Amino acid sequence: MAENIKKCMVCGRSEETAGKLTEFQSGMYICQDCMKQAYDSMPKTKEEYEEMMRQMQPFMNGFRGFRFGQAPDASKKEEEEEDIQLNLADVPAPHVIKQRLDDFVIGQDQAKKVMSVAVYNHYKRVATNTMDDIEIEKSNMLMIGPTGSGKTYLVRTIARMLEVPLAIADATSLTEAGYIGDDIESVISKLLDAAGGNVKKAEHGIVFIDEIDKIAKKKETRSRDVSGESVQQGMLKLLEGSEVEVPVGASSKNAMVPLVKVNTRNILFICGGAFPGLEEIIRNRLTESSSIGFNAELKDEYKDDPNILQKVTIEDLREFGMIPEFLGRLPIVFSLQALDQDMLVSILKDPKNAIIKQYQKLLALDEVNLEFDDKALEKIAEKAMEKKTGARALRSTLENLMLDIMYEIPKDPNIGKVTITGDYVEGKGAPLIEMRDIEAVPKIAEEKKMESDTDSEEKKEESEMTANRREYLEV
Ligand code: ADP
Repeated sequence: MAENIKKCMVCGRSEETAGKLTEFQSGMYICQDCMKQAYDSMPKTKEEYEEMMRQMQPFMNGFRGFRFGQAPDASKKEEEEEDIQLNLADVPAPHVIKQRLDDFVIGQDQAKKVMSVAVYNHYKRVATNTMDDIEIEKSNMLMIGPTGSGKTYLVRTIARMLEVPLAIADATSLTEAGYIGDDIESVISKLLDAAGGNVKKAEHGIVFIDEIDKIAKKKETRSRDVSGESVQQGMLKLLEGSEVEVPVGASSKNAMVPLVKVNTRNILFICGGAFPGLEEIIRNRLTESSSIGFNAELKDEYKDDPNILQKVTIEDLREFGMIPEFLGRLPIVFSLQALDQDMLVSILKDPKNAIIKQYQKLLALDEVNLEFDDKALEKIAEKAMEKKTGARALRSTLENLMLDIMYEIPKDPNIGKVTITGDYVEGKGAPLIEMRDIEAVPKIAEEKKMESDTDSEEKKEESEMTANRREYLEV
């Protein structure tokens, strides 16, 4: 008889406990509470409604046995899938990927090489559907490098180059399911979002999990390690490939949010972290293993080795607190160098989208030529080095420096060139200003005047309109 009992299809309660149930499709019931909740979560404006429909469109057909809105056109879906396949078949060769990375990322040659090969292999396997071959491991990666050395930037550049969706998550925010924080599968929700809700696209995407060193096994814990070892455990399935159910257009699962299945088999996982203290572990191992009696001397030698991180082994990472099963699913391990002052100077001026080029372009719109002398670049890099956050400090250092210039220069049409000097960076003098060719000045001044006249005319019109409106309201 049990099958005759009517139950709410959302919360599962029977009519006895939930009160009157409404039948809204043959054999399907919903209780008043769930109906109200559903109503409350419905979009209230046209824009909200359109946004919801846009997010849900790829999953509407066949979801939980009924259809919302219009079913997607099957031929269009096939076309889209084919498109993704084609893109992946065109994966550039490793040397081409590296060349393109060189346009944006300074230094980190070894890391760029390793990544180019790994990414190429990964997407070739995806494109040829040979991911299941047991002999070849998936190319998930573990990057070790100090803050601001370009870990995230490398991943972003690769994702943009290959036109695949990218989700960036912070391992510190992840906890075992059921605890406060994002559960591990939320990274796949983010990827689905980045893929505009297209499951097929998401399944070929890249997930970057930063600060992975923060989920190292705690050395001594009496309580349950919900944000360390258990997160590593929880990630195992995702890393090797499994089907996960993730909510559509929301960050957490609940009864009112539709779920969709995403297979992580072809998703490329890249984990990154600074691993503070790892250098010491490597140094100790090297000293112990290679010496009998010359410990102190060797320790000194390794102490000065700037590339000690390149010598990392799985053993060192285990000692750091990463569990073997986790490391086993990240077969490609490599490290990035800490950026030195020369590299920071190069980051300022050499990449295709270098920060200095951006400022030069902005001032060129005012027909002003902006230059930085070598001393200035050195000093900016020196200031950024002091902050110990790698290249991250460059932008803020430069922004502080350029604020006055960006404010003052456009005021005066006579200025044709500004040179930022080392002294100016150190706060000891003004930048060098050169006036422009006399004949050009009246023309530019005239243009500027016209701009400001148009501006003030617009303002005048606007204030007249406001005044009219006020009069109208008062009447
Ligand atoms: P992290 O290693 O902490 O992930 P990021 O990749 O986020 O560092 O670097 C911060 C910013 O610094 C980047 O957005 C990029 O603009 C710049 N940057 C860092 N490293 C490099 C590099 N090697 N070449 C060019 N720019 C870099």
